[in-house]
Amino acid sequence: MKFGTKAIHAGLEPDPSTGAVMTPIFQTSTYVQESPGKNKGYEYARGKNPTRMALQNNIAALENGKHCLCFSSGMGAIDAVAKLLRPGDEVITGNDLYGGTYRIFERVYSQYGIKFHYIDLNKPENVLPYINANTKLFWVETPTNPTMQIVDIEACAAISKKHNLTFVVDNTFASPYLQNPLDLGADIVMHSVTKYLGGHSDVVMGALITNSDDLQQKLAFIHNSCGAVPGPMDSFLVLRGIKTLHLRMERHCANGKQIAAFLSSHPRIEKVYYPGLENHPNHDIAKKQMRDFGGMISVTIKNATLEDTFKIASSFHVFSLAESLGGVESLVNHPVTMTHASVPKSEREKVGVTDNLLRFSVGVEDIEDLIADLKQALEK
Ligand SMILES: *Cc1c(COP(=O)(O)O)cnc(C)c1O
Repeated sequence: MKFGTKAIHAGLEPDPSTGAVMTPIFQTSTYVQESPGKNKGYEYARGKNPTRMALQNNIAALENGKHCLCFSSGMGAIDAVAKLLRPGDEVITGNDLYGGTYRIFERVYSQYGIKFHYIDLNKPENVLPYINANTKLFWVETPTNPTMQIVDIEACAAISKKHNLTFVVDNTFASPYLQNPLDLGADIVMHSVTKYLGGHSDVVMGALITNSDDLQQKLAFIHNSCGAVPGPMDSFLVLRGIKTLHLRMERHCANGKQIAAFLSSHPRIEKVYYPGLENHPNHDIAKKQMRDFGGMISVTIKNATLEDTFKIASSFHVFSLAESLGGVESLVNHPVTMTHASVPKSEREKVGVTDNLLRFSVGVEDIEDLIADLKQALEK
């Protein structure tokens, strides 16, 4: 099956009791048993819920994976992966991570004796000097947030394989519509389902997808033991959202391209970070591993102070000033004070997260209205 057909149908069966086409919201915490242990495969809803199972099967299909587990947030999914580690283990990761990922690694898991190395992954071989007998996990995000660097997934997979590391890709920014890291050698794909998969800014959720029975067994144990499971209503909303993922992504990409071109030629813009631009430093890798370039764009404003940047960020009428991304509505975000406030200045400035940086999540509105809004805000 091709992507759009899978988005609508994979993992879903009409409800056997009524024929309902849409998967019902099984709003229950427990299931009746005929005699102790004799049941229909459902005992307690932390372990299994039919609405959540349908969603998990659907997302697994979109990522060409065998297994999927959904979590109550993206951070819950990241937390479950971190729980695969033991004190003394070391992790290799990029130096341009989602702020919350950096925070859970540095402020939570480093307390438990796990060591994290944050490395510039523009050249994957940069990680080699940091790999030793304790290295267990390689965590990659691509495109990165907010500077849209593209990390070569196949090159990182080859390094992971050679050194026996579990290789995880946070695929939130691309969505499964644009790239499938399992096909490129990843062991686990992670999503903040909150973003493109949900797509309507109405749910917080995470997911982990894998082809490995062994990893699935370990992660399912953590999922059930630690309990960061999403509810049935949220599972339903995401099932509904995913039915239009391919249509939304087409428009996100088309709008993204036009806006990147507009911003590139605007006199107030210093730099545009968008992997679809030919002058993007990793444009070739983006072309190789992604089907299109998405709707996430960051820019720096020429000669702008923090106050100048704030003024622009507060002047939009169609774009909303808000954290998050991937929904149908266009958003603008000031990373330094919003999404990346938990990353220390010295770390963020190394990767270009400066006071004059703005990040756009381009939505699926009409392009003329989006460009007119950018124009008026930049020309204020
Ligand atoms: C939002 C996000 C997360 C965290 O997910 P939540 O659903 O907010 O918990 C992780 N990684 C990336 C790239 C994100 O954008």
